[in-house]
Amino acid sequence: MVVSSDERARRGWAARFGARLRRLRLVVPVAAGVFLAIAASGEMRTGPAAAGFALIAAAGVIDQRRAAADRAALRARRERGGEADDFVIDAVIAGLPDPAVALEPGGLVRAFNRLALEVAPALAPARPLSFALRNPAVLEAVRRAVDSDGPQRAEVFQRVPAERWWEATIAPVTLPDGPGRTGERLLLLTFHDLTPLRHVEQMRADFVANASHELRTPLASLSGFIDTLQGPARADTAAREKFLGIMKAQAARMARLIDDLLSLSRIELKVHVRPETPVDLVLVLRQVVEGLLPLATERGVAIRFVPPEGAAIVPGDRDELVRAFENLVENALKYGASGERVDIALARETGVQGEEAVVSVRDYGPGIAPEHLPRLTERFYRADVAESRAQGGTGLGLALVKHILQRHRGRLGIDSALGAGATFTVRLPIVTEIRASRESDVKSEA
Ligand code: ADP
Repeated sequence: MVVSSDERARRGWAARFGARLRRLRLVVPVAAGVFLAIAASGEMRTGPAAAGFALIAAAGVIDQRRAAADRAALRARRERGGEADDFVIDAVIAGLPDPAVALEPGGLVRAFNRLALEVAPALAPARPLSFALRNPAVLEAVRRAVDSDGPQRAEVFQRVPAERWWEATIAPVTLPDGPGRTGERLLLLTFHDLTPLRHVEQMRADFVANASHELRTPLASLSGFIDTLQGPARADTAAREKFLGIMKAQAARMARLIDDLLSLSRIELKVHVRPETPVDLVLVLRQVVEGLLPLATERGVAIRFVPPEGAAIVPGDRDELVRAFENLVENALKYGASGERVDIALARETGVQGEEAVVSVRDYGPGIAPEHLPRLTERFYRADVAESRAQGGTGLGLALVKHILQRHRGRLGIDSALGAGATFTVRLPIVTEIRASRESDVKSEA
C-alpha cells in the first residue's frame, strides 16, 4: 500500500496533536466539548453521545491513574536513593542491539535506547508509553505482561518513513531485593525487526506464483490441443501433425522450466560452499562453443572464439561453469541473431580480487534498453516477454548464471544499449596456489 506524503503529514500532525492533548490532560474536556457540540447540532442523540463521552473519559482516567501510580513509584525510588539502579538500567538498555524500552508496570517509560526512537520517535522518559506508541496490540500486551510471569508478544506494522514489521516482546523483570525494596518489577519491551523475513516471505510467494503461472501456460495449451485432437480435428491428419508438433514444443518448454527450477534450487542450497576443483576455462568454453554450433548454424550466426595461449584455471565446478557460459552464449545466439556474429573472449586481468579470468560474450543484435539491465538476473524477468517465449526461454537463465557465479565468488557485468548489441562479462578469481599445484592434473584430464 502506498501512502502519499500529504497523508503522512496528516497522520504525523494528528498523532502529535493527540499526544499533546493527552499530555496536557485535555482529552476529557475536549471529548466532552465535541460530544456536546454533536448532540447540540442534532447529528447524534444525547444518549449515544453521553455513552461515547463516558468511554473516552474512563480510558483517560485509567491511563492517568496508571501513570500517577508509576510516578509515585518513581518518586519513592528517588527518595530512597535508587538512582544507581537507574544508571545500571540505562546502561543495559543502551547496550542492547535491538530497540528496547524499560517500563514501569503501569506503562510509564523508565529508560529507552536510541534505536527505540526508530519505532516510536515521541518516546520520552517518565511519560506513558501510550503517548508515543499508539499501537493497541502492544499496549494490550504491556497490560497483560504486568500480571504474567512469561513474555507477551505483539506485532507492529510501521508505514512511515518506510514499511517495517516489528515483533514486540514484553518481558516482566523482577529486580533483586535491596534496601527499602522488595519484589520491584519492570517491563522490558524489545522490538525485533521482521522486515527482512517478511521480504523473503514475499519473494517466496512471488516465486511460487510465477513458477505456477509459467507451468500453467504450456499446460493449458497442451490440454487445449488434446481436446481439439479428440474432437473437431480427430480425422484431420494435417492438423494432427501440426498440433502434435506444437504440443511437443510445449512439453519441452515445461521440461526445461522444471530442469532450470531444480538446478536453481540445487545451486542455492550450496551457494555458500565454494567449489575447489581446478577447471580450465579454455576447455569449458571450447565445449560450450562446440555444443552450440548447431544452434549457431540454424540462426545464421558465426561464433568467434580465439583461446589465449595456455590454460586459464579457476577453482570451480566444471558442469556449473559449462551451464553458465552455455546460457550466455545461447542468449547471444537467440536474442542477438540479427547481428550474425558472436565474439567470445578470455583474458587475464588484475582486478579487485587479485588475478581474475575475464570472459566476455558479445553479440551485435538489438541490445537491451537500460531500464532492464539492473533486473535481468531476477528470476522470471524478461526484457521482452513475447520474444523470450518465442525463443523457448524460461526467464531463469541469467538467475542461474548469477547464482553459479556467486558460488564461484565471481561477478557478472552487463553492458548494452539499444541497437548496439550486448556484452555479458564474467569475472572469476584465479587462485594461484591451486593453479600451481594442480595444473598438471587438468592437463592430463584434457
Ligand atoms: P530467458 O530464458 O528468457 O532467455 P534469461 O534469464 O536467460 O531468460 O534472460 C532474461 C532476459 O534477458 C531475456 O528474456 C531477454 O529479454 C534478455 N536477454 C538476455 N540476453 C540477451 C541478449 N544477448 N540480447 C538481448 N536480450 C537479452
